[in-house]
Amino acid sequence: MLAGVEQKLDILAAAAKYDAACASSGSTRRAGRHGLGAAAPRGICHSWSDDGRCISLLKILFTNRCIYDCAYCANRRSNNIPRASFTVSEVVDLTMAFYLRNYIEGLFLSSGVERSPDYTMEQLIAVCRRLREERQFHGYIHVKAIPGASPELIRQAGLYADRVSVNIELPTEESLRLLAPQKSRENVLTPMRLIAESIAANRDERRRFKSVPRYAPAGQSTQLIVSASPESDHQILRLAASLYSHCRLKRVYYSAYVPVNDDTRLPAPPGPDLLREHRLYQADWLVRVYGFACHELVDERTPYLERTLDPKCAWALRHPELFPIEITRADYETLLRVPGIGIRSAKRILAARRVAPLRLEDLANLGVVMKRAQYFVTCQGKYALPASLRPDAIRAALEASDPARVTQLDLFGEL
Ligand code: SF4
Repeated sequence: MLAGVEQKLDILAAAAKYDAACASSGSTRRAGRHGLGAAAPRGICHSWSDDGRCISLLKILFTNRCIYDCAYCANRRSNNIPRASFTVSEVVDLTMAFYLRNYIEGLFLSSGVERSPDYTMEQLIAVCRRLREERQFHGYIHVKAIPGASPELIRQAGLYADRVSVNIELPTEESLRLLAPQKSRENVLTPMRLIAESIAANRDERRRFKSVPRYAPAGQSTQLIVSASPESDHQILRLAASLYSHCRLKRVYYSAYVPVNDDTRLPAPPGPDLLREHRLYQADWLVRVYGFACHELVDERTPYLERTLDPKCAWALRHPELFPIEITRADYETLLRVPGIGIRSAKRILAARRVAPLRLEDLANLGVVMKRAQYFVTCQGKYALPASLRPDAIRAALEASDPARVTQLDLFGEL
């Protein structure tokens, strides 16, 4: 590897770590003398494919020479930091070299805005096109769409990449105006809508002609920075719910604001609010997978998720009239509402009920987390605990055993 490229890799892999769209972003875990592997050597990060496989990706920026000046960003124009830009050939060669050595299964390519959104988008597309057409690369590619780039370029990105994402960054237009004045809600939402339309059109076309290549088969995602601006969990989750339904996003990634700049427009927390980020992911999961409506978890009157309890337990405690659930009769959707019962255990309960009468002592073997579920279910009319247990005692017990509070969240501990 040429020294120049190696240096660029150091700068541009480090510069990409604040993008949360890959699960191990920011992790610096290493194996030490007795272990094996490392979480993020030189820009290797991990993501999950649609079929649940963990895949390792080379995660880099194409350039950190950015003409924008977003208040929260380490790469903003006004920061005095080492700058670098790859060439298209360098990224293609690096990806192929890493792939052939089995270091990675794909590429996560983001970028600052160099010269103009169109110029930057052209570079990113050129990398993807050359990988696919000249080097016959069939690995996973996740590419960022640059807000403000022309619609034709945005459309092209999905022809080569598995996933295309546009970072919405901040939940409201006012916050964008204050903290990222060169961006606007419209130049973020327009590419999102374009990508959604292209995915839908491609799906229709493929129904008629099987040979049509798939367009962005892993869909699109976005990232929201949390706690850099004053929006409530309610505003954030309502926005996410609307992006899921209107732009058919696969994922919204929540990224706790990491204070990297001294800027009076920004709050000055002691560190990233990882507990809030975690609660938002839990609530997002309930909306996306468990069929909860956003307003069941947060609303105008209660705009923040509880910090001390996961959102499903908090919802269940707010609705004592719905519990206990009789486990031998409840339907699938009702089972999913019980804290401690997930998709897999709900399905197992239904299957087990078909072959034999269910007993309380069977539930743990079916994957039910009894530590939580015991307060909310009966089985053949029997409680696992005394029915006289007071609500405040249940809350205290659930809070004490909440995994997010018990384990210290330290994802960005070394930043
Ligand atoms: S556009 Fe904003 S967030 Fe993106 S690299 Fe430039 S300054 Fe950072």
